[in-house]
Amino acid sequence: MCQTRVLSVPSAKAPFEKTTIERRALRPHDVLIDIQFSGICHSDIHSAFDEWGGGIFPMVPGHEIAGIVSAVGTEVTKFAVGDRVGVGCFVDSCGECEYCLKGEEQYCTKGFVATYNALDYDGNPTYGGYSQKIVVTERFVVRIPDSLELNVASPLLCAGITTYSPLKHWNAGPGKKVAIVGMGGLGHLAIQYAHALGAEVTVLSRSIDKKEEALSFGADHYFATSDPATFKTLASQFDLILNTVSANLDVDAYLSLLRIDGTLVNVGAPAEPDKYQVFSLIMGRRSIAGSLVGGIRETQEMLDFSAEHGIAPKIEVIRADQVDEAYQRVLRSDVRYRFVIDVSTL
Ligand code: NAP
Ligand code: ZN
Repeated sequence: MCQTRVLSVPSAKAPFEKTTIERRALRPHDVLIDIQFSGICHSDIHSAFDEWGGGIFPMVPGHEIAGIVSAVGTEVTKFAVGDRVGVGCFVDSCGECEYCLKGEEQYCTKGFVATYNALDYDGNPTYGGYSQKIVVTERFVVRIPDSLELNVASPLLCAGITTYSPLKHWNAGPGKKVAIVGMGGLGHLAIQYAHALGAEVTVLSRSIDKKEEALSFGADHYFATSDPATFKTLASQFDLILNTVSANLDVDAYLSLLRIDGTLVNVGAPAEPDKYQVFSLIMGRRSIAGSLVGGIRETQEMLDFSAEHGIAPKIEVIRADQVDEAYQRVLRSDVRYRFVIDVSTL
């Protein structure tokens, strides 16, 4: 067992406290990671505020983890002390079901073990990356390419894979018109991936404020959704719309922007149900879909792709005592575009 300092919330919406927890003793396939940076995902806020229900408190959020291996179990083969590594949204899965065998552990039929706010297969609560150390079985650890700084790499472990995976799955690429809705942590990476994959990329953001930056990330077009003319101008244009918004949208309005056979893929995860008219689908053989992060193999592919294409989040590094304020700023969309905690300040 080893002690580690963490940032923890004792109950829903309570302020963060600096406390200490114990990480398990290394099992044969475990690695001990000295965490250096931990990104703040909007899912951390949904969870720490218990907006999705079922929150396990005290909670240590954080699933965008970047650090250095500091010890390895006796049977570890993938990693050695000193390796630069990352951990994302889950830390275990059955390893035997159809989806685990395909490398899509996020859809494990037994249910994956989330990095925090979950119980592991032994029934112990999991605690995430707002922490100085974490113990993770090697199967759920990925390698961070040398050309990516650890602070910039950390948001890729959730925001990166959550946008890369559906863009690949729904074939964003040359000849495809793709819209990215919402330009926050996920959205600003989605623009970069869709552009690198060769699609024609349109950003749909509430205001015109982020236009110049969207174009610098590789967007071809940018429209403000606060302007009703946008929905007329762009009617029936897109093959794929990736919705990264943390709140409910007027789904019918976005469906009207799809071509025949187009798909609206939701990665944004609002707490309340969406409403839409079935006719918005029927009249254009359109689909509504969702996508959950991505598997471990694809996460490694995404990191390597990011390094190769120079894709990186724009980050603001903060101290541990700034996390409460950072949450409020994310809720006000006052973040350009991801907060990353410097864990050495814990
Ligand atoms: P974020 O940084 O807060 O970005 C969300 C963006 O949505 C904002 O920047 C804003 O973009 C837009 N937005 C926010 N409130 C809105 C409102 N009331 N109406 C319209 N647009 C609004 O959040 P994030 O970290 O990117 O996460 C986004 C969502 O994805 C969250 O719900 C999170 O839980 C979810 N998520 C899902 C997965 C998955 O596996 N499916 C993984 C990670 C995160 P504009 O200002 O540009 O309009
Ligand atoms: Zn996340």
